[in-house]
Amino acid sequence: MKSIYLTEPRQLEIREEPIPIPQEHEVLVKIAYCGICTLEQRLFDGQRKIYYPIIPGHEASAVVVTIGKQVRTSVSEGDHVVLDLVNRCHACPACISGNSNLCENRFKKGQRVLGAFSQYMVVRPDQLQTIPESLPLEQAALTEPLACCIRSLHKVKASLGDTILISGAGTMGLLHVKTALVMGIRVIVSDVDASRLAYAKKIGADAVVDPSDGEAFTELIMSMTWGRGVDSCVITTPAICAVESAIKVLAPSGTINIYTSYGDKPNLPIDMNTIHRNEFVITGSEGRSENDFYTATRALVNRKVVVDDLVSRIYPMEQATEAVEAAASGAMYRVLLDMEV
Ligand SMILES: [Zn+2]
Ligand SMILES: [Zn+2]
Repeated sequence: MKSIYLTEPRQLEIREEPIPIPQEHEVLVKIAYCGICTLEQRLFDGQRKIYYPIIPGHEASAVVVTIGKQVRTSVSEGDHVVLDLVNRCHACPACISGNSNLCENRFKKGQRVLGAFSQYMVVRPDQLQTIPESLPLEQAALTEPLACCIRSLHKVKASLGDTILISGAGTMGLLHVKTALVMGIRVIVSDVDASRLAYAKKIGADAVVDPSDGEAFTELIMSMTWGRGVDSCVITTPAICAVESAIKVLAPSGTINIYTSYGDKPNLPIDMNTIHRNEFVITGSEGRSENDFYTATRALVNRKVVVDDLVSRIYPMEQATEAVEAAASGAMYRVLLDMEV
């Protein structure tokens, strides 16, 4: 089988290696598609480092090949599955308290981190969810990013009747839009790219706005919310001005979620009195718990969130470098690797 290793920044190398043999409590899967997330882009350009050499990839769909004798789930050979590739220890305080996305041991040395840029993979049974064959494996590869959006919307306690501002209309922004809409939430999307705004509108956003003209931006949102502002806001773009604009239109007791990660370490552009007087809640969301992943799987399987339009291009695994560069260009929504070819 072939695996794609990142050996140093900007160096991807395809290596031929034996198909791994699962232990009695493990499952061998054949990867179908794997998405290229910001994490993979940052690993590639060297902004983020885990270890070298590393097999990137954490947004994968797959087919079950072999099941270890001690595996006690209902999974069968040939099942289509989606993979939840966080190493959750199920024993640390984060895991036990329902925040396994923050598992203290998820990056612990000596274990595989990520790994789905490979044709075969051995996983634990709790790292997979079965899906019906009616859900295309290409679309199923978006389970992980959808799970992250579900966590994000829970963090801002978004619910029926709310108005939310989604800042940034890239793949993650649009996944938030689609999810929020099926939850009965009114959605306003901000972005500086007119074509992205047009697409957000096309998929159902209630309003779209370019935040470059600060006055028009504030006016539109205030007029839509009876002068109160939005109940919550999710920041999916690392532009600092996005946080600045969002705070100006957040209703008292509103919540803002820093969903994006940043290349550097910017400070919040807000004074503490404004937070104090308005009881603003500022949170972050990082990855997803197994519960979020399960919710995402069901939402995709039930076709409540449909993501086929967010897969912009599929590259064969041999063209991994081109694929990562295309994903990083910002000109597309999700780029996938086809691991079969
Ligand atoms: Zn991801
Ligand atoms: Zn843990």
